[in-house]
Amino acid sequence: MPAPAPALAAAGDAALTTLAGCGPKVAEKLAARGLVRLQDLWLQLPRQYEDRTRLTPIRALQPGVAAQVEGRVEAVERGFRYRPLLRVAIGDDSRATLVLRFFHFRSAQVNQFRVGARVRCYGTPRPGQNGLEIVHPSYRVLDDAVDDGLGDRLDPVYPVIEGIGPASLRRLIGLALDRLPDDGTLELLPPSLLASLHLPPLREALLTVHRPPGDADVALLLEGRHPAQRRLVLEELLAHHLSLRRQRIAQQAHAAPALRDTTLAARLRDALPFELTGAQQRVFDEILADLARPSPMLRLVQGDVGSGKTVVAALVAMLAVADGRQAALMAPTELLAEQHLANLRGWLEPLGLQVAWLAGKVTGRARAKVLQAVASGEAQVVVGTHALMQDGVAFHDLALAIVDEQHRFGVHQRLALRDKGAGGEVGASAVVPHQLVMTATPIPRTLAMSAYADLDVSAIDELPPGRTPVQTVALGDGRRPELVERIRSACAEGRQAYWVCTLIDEPDDDGPGAAMKVEAQAAQSTYEALSTQLPEVRVGLVHGRMKPADKQATMAAFKAGDIDLLVATTVIEVGVDVPNASLMIIENAERLGLAQLHQLRGRVGRGSAASSCVLLYRSPLSQLARQRLETMRETSDGFVIAEKDLELRGPGELLGTRQTGLAGFRLADLARDADLLPQVHDIAGQLLDGSPGIADAIVARWVGGAVRYAGA
Ligand code: ADP
Ligand code: MG
Repeated sequence: MPAPAPALAAAGDAALTTLAGCGPKVAEKLAARGLVRLQDLWLQLPRQYEDRTRLTPIRALQPGVAAQVEGRVEAVERGFRYRPLLRVAIGDDSRATLVLRFFHFRSAQVNQFRVGARVRCYGTPRPGQNGLEIVHPSYRVLDDAVDDGLGDRLDPVYPVIEGIGPASLRRLIGLALDRLPDDGTLELLPPSLLASLHLPPLREALLTVHRPPGDADVALLLEGRHPAQRRLVLEELLAHHLSLRRQRIAQQAHAAPALRDTTLAARLRDALPFELTGAQQRVFDEILADLARPSPMLRLVQGDVGSGKTVVAALVAMLAVADGRQAALMAPTELLAEQHLANLRGWLEPLGLQVAWLAGKVTGRARAKVLQAVASGEAQVVVGTHALMQDGVAFHDLALAIVDEQHRFGVHQRLALRDKGAGGEVGASAVVPHQLVMTATPIPRTLAMSAYADLDVSAIDELPPGRTPVQTVALGDGRRPELVERIRSACAEGRQAYWVCTLIDEPDDDGPGAAMKVEAQAAQSTYEALSTQLPEVRVGLVHGRMKPADKQATMAAFKAGDIDLLVATTVIEVGVDVPNASLMIIENAERLGLAQLHQLRGRVGRGSAASSCVLLYRSPLSQLARQRLETMRETSDGFVIAEKDLELRGPGELLGTRQTGLAGFRLADLARDADLLPQVHDIAGQLLDGSPGIADAIVARWVGGAVRYAGA
């Protein structure tokens, strides 16, 4: 279907159906992945490369590192273990053997593998039963009479698109690239800028990345640090950054009620049993300055676990209430929301305020009553979970939306809560609530600049006085019996302990539900074992598959001191506050990331007793796991841990990839490319000031499909 492109439309806007072999069916599959225009294929960048330019001796293979090998078939085994199985052992001059393993195969394939046949294959070796093996390698059986030369360039590997084979995809991208216009039409960055960056123009960069020439620097390409890649990364980061900044500009164009009456906040502060820390006071002052203006506050408060964010949120809420309006506090889990509720009721009810509670489990008459109190304004402060954002929840006059533990919510959800305050879809001149976002996952500065370009950032970087640092040790799994004794004596002294069970094996069927089930089973059996071993200790159990009421009852009992040892899954990770708990044991700590370990450890050390945290691991430890455990032993500073986490794992894990706008990077890797961020920041500023049209074009080109920011 040759759709004639309008003469003036940019070449990149042509529909994909203008490519030979791209009928409506194929186009539909591409569109499902957001690929609709020619330029979408230009920017469908290879995630990695396969290096078929050389052979690796089998002996030199390393687990997890993809390589091409060649060898002769030494043995073939065809069997059936739960499912059909084909194992082919090949050996080479390095006198080592590699197993190729297939789970689905045709008999013609089996016949190809005669003992002595020469096989060349490519794949990622993993440790198997007998040395290294590659599961489903791509392979070719070579003819001995022909000298099959090696490739002379890297093969790009594209992200898989369902329903389109890799070869077809490569062909379509090739056809699209054949229609790349010259730089005059393509390039968006001003030439002066490019010259100063010493990076190639867009056309050259795209061609190099898609079709690396034979003389390209292979090592740089494989690492993603080739100048052509850096050029594209720069533009991609710029596009994301610009889209967040534009979102911020759009948000700030709305109006918000200026809140200046601090009398109620002062009354609350006077009633508190403690003094604010310097950091709490400073952050509160920053927020007061925001609220005094008639445009919406957009502020992120970072504060390590236990730094006291909740009381700051409560003080801030008092400004909305003093002005005759409402404040809402949303938390990601019921457990956490309930704790906020208890805190806020404890602080605010003595001041004569009404705090309403809205969660999924509030139903029927109770729910109707809460909705009524929220709609009439009778409830000045509303605490809850996602349920706050549901249809049917209408506020009388929401002036402040506080979202706790931001990394668990998406940008959408934050905006959805804001829209509640505006009474629905937000038009250009709407009045919207102020937004305060709180997170206990400190984010390195570079990352915050990029991930939260739409927010101002404050940090509560000081803990309340009187906390003793948590002693952290890492112990091999074999030391378990000692630990049980340690719990026995700690509980005998009236201390309380957590035992956290984590996932040991990935469950077969995917999905968080399945993971939660396996985790719950692990916790259940640990609970039973510990109950038997420690008959004099009162042991409790919480996991994600329990009824919320049971979970809540157990937590309450632990908090009240009626349970000594709480066996739990990672559901207790966020925000749980039991100051008397001073011993934390984390099983399979080697499987968890730093951010999660830090969160878990933050459950202890909240009171004045000296606390300890035991990281129980199973050998052998990977290099990465070893470094993580070491970091945990060395520091308890959340910001240091965050920097280390970024270095070890990359930002995706750190931020909870799916929830941030950072998920969709085609090429950029914030850990690897962080050094570009200051430049990105500057260039974005220049473009927004001087050439907003170019800024728009860059966003449209790279983030175009993500219209969710539009009009925010
Ligand atoms: P987080 O920042 O992790 O959410 P919380 O707000 O739960 O921390 O506070 C942790 C504990 O510290 C709570 O029991 C809270 O009442 C207490 N707290 C908060 N601020 C102070 C302070 N300035 N001095 C003493 N204790 C405080
Ligand atoms: Mg908290």
